[in-house]
Amino acid sequence: MVGTRQRNRSHDKARSNQPWRFWYRSERWRRKALAQLAAHPLCNRCSTDHRPVAATVANHVIPHKGNEALFWEGELESVCAPCHDGTIRSEEARGHRIGVTVDGRPKDPKHPWNRP
Ligand SMILES: [Zn+2]
Repeated sequence: MVGTRQRNRSHDKARSNQPWRFWYRSERWRRKALAQLAAHPLCNRCSTDHRPVAATVANHVIPHKGNEALFWEGELESVCAPCHDGTIRSEEARGHRIGVTVDGRPKDPKHPWNRP
């Protein structure tokens, strides 16, 4: 099955063009993520005083999109897996943060409503 093997090899090559996959596997990232979760153990998005939710993911507040400086030095937030896989992915697609303040304005200063 030479054909299958060749397809797999070119797939691996495409993945290796995304260096952050290796950054996530590094000891440096593991320590950084653990330090973030130790300092902020609850989900920054959905945890409340009444319903605390443990965070398991250190998420980049500003999507790094492969930017090495942002990846290592960018601000992190602790989030649970459902928030990371659901809310945050759709926010990154929309380009602004989902959610409103108590007075009903979007929380994210980048939201179109909050632009001057
Ligand atoms: Zn959450």
